[in-house]
Amino acid sequence: MIDTINISVEKTTNSKLSQFDQENLVFGKLYSDHMFIADYENGEWGDFRIVPYGDLSISPANTTLHYSQTVFEGLKAYRTKDGEIAVFRPIDNAKRLNKSAERVCIPELPEEIFMEGLHELLKLDHEWIPSKEGTSLYIRPFIFGFDPYVGIRPSDTYKFIIITCPVGAYYAEPVKVKVETHYTRAAAGGTGFAKTGGNYAAALYPAVQAQKEGYNQLIWTDGKNHEYIEEAGTMNLMFVIDNKLVTAPTGDTILKGITRDSVMTLAKEWGIEVEERPIKVTEVIDAIKEGRMQEAFGAGTAATIAQIKAIGYDGVDYELPAVEGREISNRMLADLNKIKSGELEDKHGWLYKI
Ligand SMILES: *Cc1c(COP(=O)(O)O)cnc(C)c1O
Repeated sequence: MIDTINISVEKTTNSKLSQFDQENLVFGKLYSDHMFIADYENGEWGDFRIVPYGDLSISPANTTLHYSQTVFEGLKAYRTKDGEIAVFRPIDNAKRLNKSAERVCIPELPEEIFMEGLHELLKLDHEWIPSKEGTSLYIRPFIFGFDPYVGIRPSDTYKFIIITCPVGAYYAEPVKVKVETHYTRAAAGGTGFAKTGGNYAAALYPAVQAQKEGYNQLIWTDGKNHEYIEEAGTMNLMFVIDNKLVTAPTGDTILKGITRDSVMTLAKEWGIEVEERPIKVTEVIDAIKEGRMQEAFGAGTAATIAQIKAIGYDGVDYELPAVEGREISNRMLADLNKIKSGELEDKHGWLYKI
């Protein structure tokens, strides 16, 4: 990679690598030794640096603490079978970060800052990338307004930061989800397509209510009539109905998942019919009742594929076919894992090697 930005590096004198235990990885508990930071001031990004992971000093008047002018991404680096480091589709995350940023008046971050910051950070913290099956290094890039100002307006200053943490397999257990027909995650014209803080804060309360009722997650429906399936809180939803892979079209209320795109791409290659169209809640329930729903799963970076075992709607839980017999999603997870580990050819240029 050609260096177009100048990154200063301050290495930690107090590495936490001795606490890094591949056998016992807990999501979000232990962060890698370093982080990448860039500052936006006077209309441009600069002061690119890698420093020891640690706390930031922030004004109590910080605009983001009050008004959530913030965007984030989530992606993963994997250890290939040859011991190389491969990041899955990072350029797509860099592009999506800017789409989210535009919606909340955060200035564009040139893709090379994202890519080179990531590259140098992973080069330095390469020992934090686990190799055991199902493990990876979760990467969290984010931008937030930094002005110490409680007036409501776009911030003049920002920070772009990348932190990472080693993770094990996520949501290994099939989930029970509830169709939400009261609360709304995203409305037409709103921010649903953007990875911005407020969307997730607004989803907490309904999710906690559902958890009290015994569900793991929510299926969000359209904000207007709660008639159409949208997505889960951090995953896009996919169904196999009558042997076709069906998923809702992304627009301004549904986040355009990179896993979703990867799943649709592979399914088409396998000759499976893929339908991207509005899906009524009643269609899903009828398909389950009539035995025409073969599979249902969430697609997102955290779990890759999260199997859905039951869907709750209107006080009734509808059970789905056994996970072991689900041909498309099981093969999908296996093949995506094989692409990431280098066992299957990366035909689409999805892997970015460090
Ligand atoms: C991140 C996210 C997804 C999944 O996107 P991936 O790029 O596949 O990780 C889906 N829905 C929402 C709301 C998300 O925040």
